[in-house]
Amino acid sequence: MFAEVIVDISASAVDKIYDYDITGFDVGEGCRVLVPFGKFSIEGFIIRVKETTDYDKSKVKKILKPVDDFPVITKEMIELLHKMCKFYHLRYIDVLRLFIPSEMRTGKVKSLSKAVLEFVGNKEEIFVKIRKNAKNQLNLLNFLEKNKKYYKTDLNNAYSLVAVNKFIESGYLIEKKEDYFRSPDFLSVENKKVKHSKLQQKAIDEILSKRDKTHLLFGVTGSGKTEVYMSVIENIIKEGKTAIMLVPEISLTPQVLSNFKARFKDLVAILHSGLSSGERFDEWKRIRLNQAKIVVGARSAIFAPVQNLGVIIIDEEHEQSYNSESNPRYFTKDVAEFRKNYNKCPLVLGSATPSLDSFLKADRGIYNLIEMPVRINGKDMPKIQIVDMLSEIRAGNTGIFSRTLLYELDNCIKNKKQAMLFINRRGFSSFMRCMDCGYVAKCTDCDVSLVYHKEDNMLKCHYCGKRYKVLTKCPSCGSERIKQGAVGTQKIVETLKTYFPDVKVLRMDNDTTSAKNSYQKILKEFGETKPAILVGTQMIAKGHDFKDVTVVGIVDADQSLYQSDYKSTERTFELITQMAGRAGRSDDEGKVILQTYAPRHYCYKFIANYNYKGFYNKEINLRETALFPPFTTIIRLLFTSENNDLVLEVVKKCYNKIFDLANLYKDDFVYYDAMKSPITRIKNKYRYQILIRLKKDREFEIINKIYSVCDECYNHKVSFFVEINPSSMT
Ligand code: ADP
Ligand code: ZN
Ligand code: ZN
Repeated sequence: MFAEVIVDISASAVDKIYDYDITGFDVGEGCRVLVPFGKFSIEGFIIRVKETTDYDKSKVKKILKPVDDFPVITKEMIELLHKMCKFYHLRYIDVLRLFIPSEMRTGKVKSLSKAVLEFVGNKEEIFVKIRKNAKNQLNLLNFLEKNKKYYKTDLNNAYSLVAVNKFIESGYLIEKKEDYFRSPDFLSVENKKVKHSKLQQKAIDEILSKRDKTHLLFGVTGSGKTEVYMSVIENIIKEGKTAIMLVPEISLTPQVLSNFKARFKDLVAILHSGLSSGERFDEWKRIRLNQAKIVVGARSAIFAPVQNLGVIIIDEEHEQSYNSESNPRYFTKDVAEFRKNYNKCPLVLGSATPSLDSFLKADRGIYNLIEMPVRINGKDMPKIQIVDMLSEIRAGNTGIFSRTLLYELDNCIKNKKQAMLFINRRGFSSFMRCMDCGYVAKCTDCDVSLVYHKEDNMLKCHYCGKRYKVLTKCPSCGSERIKQGAVGTQKIVETLKTYFPDVKVLRMDNDTTSAKNSYQKILKEFGETKPAILVGTQMIAKGHDFKDVTVVGIVDADQSLYQSDYKSTERTFELITQMAGRAGRSDDEGKVILQTYAPRHYCYKFIANYNYKGFYNKEINLRETALFPPFTTIIRLLFTSENNDLVLEVVKKCYNKIFDLANLYKDDFVYYDAMKSPITRIKNKYRYQILIRLKKDREFEIINKIYSVCDECYNHKVSFFVEINPSSMT
């Protein structure tokens, strides 16, 4: 017998299928095996078993031995492996590594087992044989019950090692090894049984009765989506099937996890980055051995080795973090669609602010739309007040807080309530803005905001590479008061302290949450302090349920609006709507103050009315006109190397080959060009890119040809990769 093996080395040169002889070994598809490879012995994965090989049989080497006593990769995942490699142009090994916990590969974490003792003796018979002064043995005997199992360490501790060993020697206790799993800690909460609202029941019925569908569950914040997910899962489990539920990493709060644990007990396994290596390893193993039936986790949990899937749920489906933006690049929703089709089970995408892409699919009938437009407590959404910061300037207030926001904060503090101030800044965002009329420079061709690049003092468009002179004078009103740069969380905290020196101000952003558990700590402290103000980035926008937050302030809403990104308006709508959902969650009325220099921007009007559909209609039309996704696909080939001449050579070669393609597929190429990347050098490496925008119909055909071009242009001194609809174009 022979096997096709992928060796565990991440390098293109060896990422091939190798044949090995497995005659005499008890191994099959999906098993890890140790194989001789050159001078070394290396671990590999069997992806196929076959009777014969095309190679000279006498030269095909034998495997050395199996690594585990079970196949670590299921049949389904092997099929997925082939799909992902083809679809995303990935290496086999990079995909395979997604499928098992990294702890398994390094061999640093081992399975644990515990010694278990079973009592098989007869109490009366033993009693007469024990010396009457052997207190420990007598007590032990008293404690034991026929055919019951005990952990050896527990008995040792309670009745002494000597007594326990004596019983084992005499054959009263029989020792066995039993797998033992490390498990994450949980807050213990009660399993809340609620009566479903009509809308919830309808959603549940719909999902369970249309099993071949992808459902878009569009429900406002607080409409009770989580209860729908849990109830669907409960039904699926009763049928003997399994479930995967994905939640963005940032929303995987102890609260959410504990609710699942309370309802489903040990049937739940959790996979996220906060676990220790041992815990992650054991949770994965419980899933693989079919002991856990429900997987709750962040993005990578989509690869959990559950079998007989009955439902896949992706909560907050609009979240960017579901896309992997570094090698191996993939889209979680694509993977979910594959697993849905393989298992013939429903896929549920849930959101209060669905991605335009998903809503378009619902609009076209590809997804089944389920709506839950009201909050479960029947309360209205908090009122959103738009404050024009230009009129603040005209009135002499040039600070970062409007008079309205200061007034509301002051009130909130006097009433011993809480406030959250939000700055939606992502990465570096340095647009230029006229402080008199609010004008922001945009690319004339692409209608996205330009980004200021300090190193060459230029404004650049990240979508076509066009470069513009920096603004010295506003083209709209002639003012010379042009400001560049953005307010950060730190600045907001400092300013707050000058206004409210005695109030507790907490800050939450990438800098303050890098240490383990710091995120939880800040939330806990905020939860316990009144009055208090929490200042933060998008981290504070999601999921939190603080009953005493009465004021939410969006300090500079435009900062996400003017990111040089065709999705910036969509993201602004989503972030602010989510953020607004933090206010007024109990009896006190909540208020949202939205500060902007562009108060008449259509985005804010729709936000203030909680009009998602209105926003969707407007935005989807703009996308169609401007030929941006979801009506086109953006492809970026990024090339980097320390050798400028060499990288240029490869870019040119690639460019010319794709140019021929573009001629062949004239109608499909909306845009095609090669240029320096917006950031021309990082860590001493020169960066170039080829940008392509394709129409939808034949995109897969063309993308495959582009992959072939990449293979033809391969040069081991230049690294380059293909990005599809990347969210960052730096
Ligand atoms: P969403 O995920 O849609 O934002 P949640 O699932 O967080 O909403 O629900 C909001 C709150 O309503 C939660 O505290 C939840 O326990 C509660 N809840 C959900 N369904 C019901 C119900 N049928 N009856 C009473 N309370 C409910
Ligand atoms: Zn102006
Ligand atoms: Zn442009």
